[in-house]
Order: sequence, then structure tokens, then C-alpha cells
Amino acid sequence: METTAIRGRLNWQAARVISVSWETASVATIELEPPDWAGHRAGQHVDVRLTAEDGYTAERSYSIASAPGEPLAITVERLEDGEVSPYLAGELRAGDELELRGPIGGYFVWGPSDGGPLTLLAGGSGVVPLRSMLRHRVSTRSGAQARLLYSARGWEDVIYRDELGQYGDGIRVSYTLTRSHPPGWTGHTGRIDSALLAEVAWPAGANPLAYICGPTSFVEAAAAGLVGLGYPPERVKTERFGATGGR
Ligand SMILES: Cc1cc2nc3c(=O)[nH]c(=O)nc-3n(C[C@H](O)[C@H](O)[C@H](O)COP(=O)(O)OP(=O)(O)OC[C@H]3O[C@@H](n4cnc5c(N)ncnc54)[C@H](O)[C@@H]3O)c2cc1C
Repeated sequence: METTAIRGRLNWQAARVISVSWETASVATIELEPPDWAGHRAGQHVDVRLTAEDGYTAERSYSIASAPGEPLAITVERLEDGEVSPYLAGELRAGDELELRGPIGGYFVWGPSDGGPLTLLAGGSGVVPLRSMLRHRVSTRSGAQARLLYSARGWEDVIYRDELGQYGDGIRVSYTLTRSHPPGWTGHTGRIDSALLAEVAWPAGANPLAYICGPTSFVEAAAAGLVGLGYPPERVKTERFGATGGR
């Protein structure tokens, strides 16, 4: 059993693209159907591999956007000068095949038995695995209270905006917009700092569990901020997406 599970996880397989839908002007959610998929946990990722005609390959990781039990989906932000993301969020169409392996990761994961309350901090596309956790929390009717603080460049860059606006009881979503904001914006602006964290995150005394995901510089600043507020480092889980991203 275990051997099969490990083999399935490590093997590359060609998944069929079921749909591509746009979350923002540069961010697409891709629903996939891998031939061999035993399910995933909220917070895990897959590796995607593109192969050029001359055999050159490029691999990147993408968090799983869907909740456990839902069809596999990833959400990709197109970086104009990127090698892989412009293909995924630009060229890929329903009916195409995409090579992937996974699910991968056992640390940055959440399930109802992990409890709460949850402090979730997202920088840009770092919201993707946190969205999987929130959907999982809703579908399992977990009582874990969650507070999400989402840092985006502008309101038009907010991924899953409608969905995040619809979460009700027990899930509070706050935004901070770092570059531009709509007229009349009454939410937060600027980068995450200790004052903002003190205002929106669970106080350390509530014994919260924190998940932080986004560009490396965002994750480091946010994690240091929570530890500064008294969160024990072992209650602060982080996932770094790579470059600074300029948020
Ligand atoms: C565990 C994990 C999960 C990830 N999940 C997601 C996800 O859900 N959605 C998603 O869109 N991306 C995610 N990423 C980032 C993704 O793997 C790629 O790094 C990203 O798509 C850029 O790849 P690229 O080939 O287009 O750009 P590259 O050709 O690698 O880089 C192009 C330029 O963009 C810069 N750059 C590279 N990565 C980033 C970044 N993350 N943010 C800003 N600038 C960057 C580079 O410094 C370079 O200047 C994840 C990364 C990891 C490690």
C-alpha cells in the first residue's frame, strides 16, 4: 500500500486540463484530471514539468488550490518574464495535457484535527494553499475560527475575491493593498507590519496556529512579526514561493 502511494506521488504523469478560468487579468485557475490521484491534503503542492521540443525541461511547484475531495486545481500567476507561468496562465487550454507529480509536502498542511484558531497570512499568490485550507475548513464544518490577512498590490489583483467575500461565520478576511486602492477604500494599505498584525491576527494568548505563504521577503517579515507578538515559532508554519515579488 505504502509503496504504491509513494510511487504514485513521485511519478510524473500526464494530467488532462479540464478547464482554465481567470481569477484576475494575470491569474488563472487550472482544473486538472491526473490518471492516478489518491487525493491530497490542504496546503500541499504539485510539481509541474514542461518539456520543449528539443528535450529541454523546466520544473516549478504550484500549491493545490482546491480542498481535499475536490478535483485537483492549481492557480498560477503569470510573470511576464517567467519561463513557465506565462505558458500555464496564457497558453494552456482545456483538453491539453500537463505533466505533474504529487501531492507533495507534509509540513505546510492543515486538517480539522490540527484545530485553531488560525491566523493565515497571504502575500499575492500565496493565498492559494490558504484558500484550500479555508475551503477544507468549510466543507468539514470544522469549528476552527480563522482570520486571513491578504496582502495584494491592488484590489484588481485580489485572487478569489468573490469567494473570500462570501465566507461567513468563523472566517474573517482582511486585506492590505500595497500599491493602489480604489476610491473610498476603507481597508488597510501598505505592507504588513507589527501594528497591522496586532490589529488583525489572533492574539498569542489564544494559542493560534499560523500559516504564512507568499514571496520570500513577505514570509520572513510576516513570520518575524508574529513571533514578535509572542507566537511560538513552532506554531508559525511558512511556505516560500521564491523571489521577492516586490509586494
Ligand atoms: C511550494 C511552492 C508553491 C508555489 N505555488 C505557487 C502558486 O500556487 N501559484 C503561483 O503562481 N506560483 C507558485 N509558486 C511559484 C512558482 O513555482 C514559480 O516560481 C513561478 O510561477 C515563477 O515561475 P516562472 O518560470 O514563470 O518564472 P521564472 O522564469 O522562474 O522567473 C522569472 C522572474 O520572476 C521572478 N520570480 C520567480 N518566482 C517568483 C515569484 N514566486 N514571485 C515573484 N517573482 C518571481 C524571478 O526572480 C525572475 O525575475 C510556488 C513555489 C513554491 C516553491
